Amino acid sequence: MTATDLTSYAILDIDLGAIVANWRALRAAHGGRPTAGVLKADAYGLGAAHVAPALHAAGCRHFFVAHLEEAVAIRPLLPESLLAVLNGPLPGTEPDYLVHGIDPVLGSLPDIARWTALARATGRALPALLHVDTGLARVGLDPDEVRALRDTPDMMHGVAPRYVMTHLAAADVPDDPANRAQLQRFDAACALFPSLPRSLANSAGIFLGADFRSDLARPGAALYGVNPTPGLANPMRPVLRLRARVLQVRDVAAGDTVGYNGTWRAARPSRIAAVGVGYADGFPRALSNRGIACFDGAPIPLVGRVSMDLTAYDVTDHKAIGPGDWLELIGPHRDLTAVADAAGTSAYEILTNLGRRYQRIWHG
Ligand SMILES: *Cc1c(COP(=O)(O)O)cnc(C)c1O
Repeated sequence: MTATDLTSYAILDIDLGAIVANWRALRAAHGGRPTAGVLKADAYGLGAAHVAPALHAAGCRHFFVAHLEEAVAIRPLLPESLLAVLNGPLPGTEPDYLVHGIDPVLGSLPDIARWTALARATGRALPALLHVDTGLARVGLDPDEVRALRDTPDMMHGVAPRYVMTHLAAADVPDDPANRAQLQRFDAACALFPSLPRSLANSAGIFLGADFRSDLARPGAALYGVNPTPGLANPMRPVLRLRARVLQVRDVAAGDTVGYNGTWRAARPSRIAAVGVGYADGFPRALSNRGIACFDGAPIPLVGRVSMDLTAYDVTDHKAIGPGDWLELIGPHRDLTAVADAAGTSAYEILTNLGRRYQRIWHG
């Protein structure tokens, strides 16, 4: 495809082959054990409807999303696979899980009570995952509740648990003692249900060592190229490239300002290129006067405020850049993590905010 075929201001190229390669690498790092694909938030902004079949074709058979609606949308793409909803079932939605063959992740006693009620009503045992809280303190069963379930089997009557799972709070900080503390609490909870398979590690958790292996890892971010080993070289392949078309290039005089409220002032006669990407596209306003794009391998500084739909770059030192040229805002030459750092946020937030207005092109 040539630039003239394109009608959009910005293109998001997504490399499905790299996502599959990352999944295989994560499975290998998990000792070859089962490894799921986490597809919540539209596969972290990259398109669950495209990522799901690519992972399925590669042999992935376990998938997680956060909302029931996300699961319903991709259920037909994932035959003979576990598809589970991490946030747990909202009261009243339980029958939808049954209809679509989606597993709820039960993270409270009321969740379990409603699931057993549905099991009684349908007269058969219903699959689900049990979520145990081991320190993140968001959703999940407390240790006391887990013990109550073990001691009062009636509470679980009709629930056919597939996995006991928990979620790590600090897996991206390998020396954080919270990791081992959570592992111990998880071991204690699992010991109450010794026959059940376990699911533990997220992306970073896979790299915490053999103790953190389980019957099912649940990586999300690393599939999409986010470094699961912060501080070390990124073992993942880059997956996306965000490029924006230069709309205009103008000359400004020394002393002129660029953008709302004149937060950047030209120190010399300068050439300013405008691109049609802004904070309405999830391009962080925090990158104002801090962002860097890339052209032909060269860094191009972002100048002035990121506005809603437009952003300016100083191309004074790059006479070749003109309207119709493409600046790489994120990609192989402009690492997602570096962009997130410059914006004072996480790569997760950059990904999941990737704008709906970008033209997404899936490769591979
Ligand atoms: C989002 C999420 C994951 C995936 O986490 P990553 O850090 O993106 O790998 C795994 N488990 C749970 C419970 C989650 O919410």
